[in-house]
Amino acid sequence: MTQSIEIVLPKDVEPAFPDQCIVCCAPPNSTTKIFAQTYNPFLNLFMPIVILFGWLQIEIPICSSCKLVFKAQRWGLVFASFLFGAFAAYWLLQNFNEFSLVLKIMSIPCLFLFAGLPHALAAFISPPYFDATALSNKVEYEFAKIDYASKFHLLNESHILDSDFYEQ
Ligand SMILES: [Zn+2]
Repeated sequence: MTQSIEIVLPKDVEPAFPDQCIVCCAPPNSTTKIFAQTYNPFLNLFMPIVILFGWLQIEIPICSSCKLVFKAQRWGLVFASFLFGAFAAYWLLQNFNEFSLVLKIMSIPCLFLFAGLPHALAAFISPPYFDATALSNKVEYEFAKIDYASKFHLLNESHILDSDFYEQ
């Protein structure tokens, strides 16, 4: 099991990326844009909707042959979260009337949990090549590859609020 490396930068700082593909580390010939996640699993559940409203976007270097792998991993996660959430919502609606009041109250956090489950599971088994989580005033950048993360750390060192490298 591998752990992703986290580096935190202020939200208003444009991150500098190493001149390497995020997936295979070869010289990149393209870029791809991703949307930062939020800490609210319910918002993540509605990612496809949130995207339409222009969420925080990050442009990362990638080679065109790696784009498919990268996108499949990302959209696979979004899709899995959506599916899990939809399944949980469907199940809750089917059984809602039979629930006692306590169960009804408990069912809301359950829905949140379901939406976050695929992501937590995937991050546990194999962390995504790259991920970003937006908070109110900062952004957490996560990397699966330690070499890439250390280069990112060096490039952005003057702005770093927190980094897993500081703890090693
Ligand atoms: Zn590549």
